[in-house]
Amino acid sequence: MTFNDLGLRSQVVKAVTDMGFEQPTPIQLEAIPHLLKSKSDFVGLAQTGTGKTAAFGLPLVNRITESQRYPKGLIICPTRELCLQIAKDIENYSKYERNATVEAVYGGSDIQRQIKNIRNGVAIIVATPGRLVDLIKRKAIQLNEVEVVVLDEADEMLNMGFKEDLDYILSATPNEKSTWLFSATMPAEVARIGKTYMTDPLEVSIGNKNEGNANIDHIYFSVKERDRYAALKRLIDFNPKIFGLVFCRTRRETQQVAEKLAKEGYSAEAIHGDLSQAQRDRVMNLFRSRSIQLLVATDVAARGIDVNDITHVINYNLPDEVENYTHRSGRTARAGNTGESLVLINTREKYKINQIEKIINQKFAYAEIPGPEAICAIQLESMINKVKATKVNEEEIAPFIPHILADLEDLSKEEVIKKFVSAEFNRFLDYYKKAGDLNAKASDRGGDDRDSGRGRDRDDRGSSRGRRSETDENKQRFFVSLGDKDGLNPGGLLRIICDATGLKSDTIGRIDIMPAFSFFDADKSDADKILAQVQGADFEGKSMNIEKTQEKSSGGGGRSRGGGSRGGSRSGGDRRSGGRSGGGSRSGGSSSSSRSGGGSSSRRR
Ligand code: AMP
Repeated sequence: MTFNDLGLRSQVVKAVTDMGFEQPTPIQLEAIPHLLKSKSDFVGLAQTGTGKTAAFGLPLVNRITESQRYPKGLIICPTRELCLQIAKDIENYSKYERNATVEAVYGGSDIQRQIKNIRNGVAIIVATPGRLVDLIKRKAIQLNEVEVVVLDEADEMLNMGFKEDLDYILSATPNEKSTWLFSATMPAEVARIGKTYMTDPLEVSIGNKNEGNANIDHIYFSVKERDRYAALKRLIDFNPKIFGLVFCRTRRETQQVAEKLAKEGYSAEAIHGDLSQAQRDRVMNLFRSRSIQLLVATDVAARGIDVNDITHVINYNLPDEVENYTHRSGRTARAGNTGESLVLINTREKYKINQIEKIINQKFAYAEIPGPEAICAIQLESMINKVKATKVNEEEIAPFIPHILADLEDLSKEEVIKKFVSAEFNRFLDYYKKAGDLNAKASDRGGDDRDSGRGRDRDDRGSSRGRRSETDENKQRFFVSLGDKDGLNPGGLLRIICDATGLKSDTIGRIDIMPAFSFFDADKSDADKILAQVQGADFEGKSMNIEKTQEKSSGGGGRSRGGGSRGGSRSGGDRRSGGRSGGGSRSGGSSSSSRSGGGSSSRRR
């Protein structure tokens, strides 16, 4: 089915085609033919990112064939950002239909200018509730000719306390009109609006009622309260390409977290209600243009954020009203993308996860905060990839090269590489050298720990095998110089160890295959034998170096991650002394030479 088949006029179809829309999304398919009818009340249960703006915007533009003195369409939405976005979309849909003029009216901007524009005659008004009530009370807007009222993100509007305003606005519009209501969830208050103001609406639900977006992975991490901020940094560090939203509970917390992150060199800014409109605009523009990587936000300030390719939503703290979790997580996985919603909880908050699972009708996966080595490996890999992808401006750099080459003359290529990598990376390594395991222990979690389906999937895929007990004193952990990039997998590593030593496979414990190197556990009593006999083993023409790691790992029962699928299974406290620097400082390992491309996350776009 194409846009041509939905009953829209050719000018409107042409405009959406210009926008690059090829096929209608499910909500558009269901809604548009119905909304094109003259009397058409409608309830659409759809998350943000499903294409709902076009689902109501196209039929609305389609109705307007003549120049309008007074508004025919009234779209009410919760925030200024959304208001502007919708108005922009409507302008695009009406590119070939000049009569469908649009005006966005919202608080915090010049009301006189808005009044003047409305007086000049506008066909469609997009408004936030407060400003619209103001305009009605000033008799600056004439709503007698309104044929369609759209309530977009109705649940958010009610959450934000706009109930009275909505009642006031709806009572100021004619009885004979169509009301189209869109909402991500259907709490009783939204259902009440449906009952009070609509007759026999067509109800369309994309996904189950109140269900979250299936493209979002929901993952929680259990940490001690005092480690919350350090854990946040690890989740960010584990995802070097993150483009994310970090949610905090209060404005103060939002500001503090953003400031701390920025001070420590992260690309982060805060957005919350204490900022002026101009400040908020500045931050939003920085985020939209990807000049910053992380937006730290309160729930209210983040409403209406319409950025499509957010990779991660991090819940630094869960919202007071757990229902608001859906709005937060819905900021990722928009427009058919996938995304991850990561939640940090302390040991007493597990019940909130259970509550949210019921609301979103989806299970959370439990995962561990990645440990220092996994993070360093991923950061190093990311840095090497960045170096490889860096374009050399030959002309600009040419005058400096002879001098630089002369200065570095005494160093071998390997030494130069090591020095450049260390210059960039030493601070990071130093930080993580002292870092331990941030995961709250199973006992801290009141025995309530569990592994979800997702964790099992990952085991099945074989990136790791077995589980390490926190009390397992008898295991020795080994470092292996080959990894995923060399084609090594858990089965292959197991085979090499068992072939070389004659040990039974069940004596080998957990195996973690990282991009450029690997780890495995074995019984301490077998350690010397393994070291002697596996050292230098051949794997597809490459010599495998192994070493004992110096401290005993304290890996817990769950899987460690933070968005990554491959290297994410290490927990902290497992550092070898001297600080591992990935491949850069190792001789004989394949680490630095074999690292390329990839990235750490199965979800990375
Ligand atoms: P919305 O849910 O209206 O915020 O839309 C989410 C995103 O999907 C927006 O960036 C739209 O431009 C895009 N979009 C909406 N409908 C379509 C479509 N039929 N094909 C491709 N992209 C679409």
